[in-house]
Amino acid sequence: MMERARRALENAREHGADALIVQSAPNRRYLTGFTGSEGTIVITSEGVHLLVDFRYVEQAKLQAPGAHVQMYRREELWAKVAEALAAAGARRPGFEAEHVSWARWRKMVESLPEGVEAVPVTGAVERVRAVKDAGELELIRRAMRITDEALAAVLPEVRPGVRERELALRLEWEMKRRGAEGTAFDFIVASGPRSAMPHGVAGDRALERGDFVTFDIGARYQGYCADMTRTVILGEADERQRAIYDLVLRAQEAALAAVRAGVRASEVDAAARRVIADAGYGEAFGHGLGHGVGLDVHEAPSLNARSEDVLEEGMVVTIEPGVYLEGWGGVRIEDSVVVTAAGYELLTFTAKDLMIL
Ligand code: ZN
Ligand code: ZN
Repeated sequence: MMERARRALENAREHGADALIVQSAPNRRYLTGFTGSEGTIVITSEGVHLLVDFRYVEQAKLQAPGAHVQMYRREELWAKVAEALAAAGARRPGFEAEHVSWARWRKMVESLPEGVEAVPVTGAVERVRAVKDAGELELIRRAMRITDEALAAVLPEVRPGVRERELALRLEWEMKRRGAEGTAFDFIVASGPRSAMPHGVAGDRALERGDFVTFDIGARYQGYCADMTRTVILGEADERQRAIYDLVLRAQEAALAAVRAGVRASEVDAAARRVIADAGYGEAFGHGLGHGVGLDVHEAPSLNARSEDVLEEGMVVTIEPGVYLEGWGGVRIEDSVVVTAAGYELLTFTAKDLMIL
């Protein structure tokens, strides 16, 4: 059987399932290579079934040669799922508890034959996805490189009078020119007091001299995401701006120094949080330190105080502390790294010294 699917099924068994039904798009793509907008995967001890409608039969056969591709007509889906389950003697199919809507869950429960009970499963595929293989790392490195290059191309245009939205569009343009298929998320370009909003998506504000400008950006390349943040200053930096920037940078470097396979994600979070709290700004760092990056820009593992995840070799994670002061502004610095046995491989190469443009 396809290795990724075999491991996902193994994880599902820990939840008491004897098969796994997968319908979320990134998980579908990860397990089989199929990129269509609709499709249902049924993993049983016998193999991987990919059920698609008429639109996707040819594409599914091309993209997912390891799966048993079958076409279904409207209203036939659950009968086909039941067939696949029955062929393997499965009676407790797991479903993706975090991705199935209430309406779809009801339809599934009503449609499965008597004696077959759907079991909620969380993270079965996501846990496999958290550790990247060499091919995935290559695509992620490429997405990150495109992101670095796009920012370098646009920085000369960051000046008073330019609107956040224009810069976001220019960044997207530079990424697509370099082979990106799109953006990994809606870019954050947050200037002046707006930089105090950790997720201040680019708006209509025109940049002013003395502004902090936070760019949180990432390209998507063959499905894989990049994620990085840089905060720059326009014109000149005052003392407080320099001090806060320096504080966030020290916190970010302390966290990076803590990254290594076998370390608890919560410890890496604590390494950054300690630096910021010691300076008296603990309350101003109100979000987690980072997250995994892959087919989704936010995926397993989680790096925050409550996380129970342990870093493993091959995970790709972000390290992104910030300090946000309402009415004044904020600073975030975010790098993405691959976790290694000895530490990490840096994926973000844009410099981190305070840039005054
Ligand atoms: Zn980001
Ligand atoms: Zn991030």
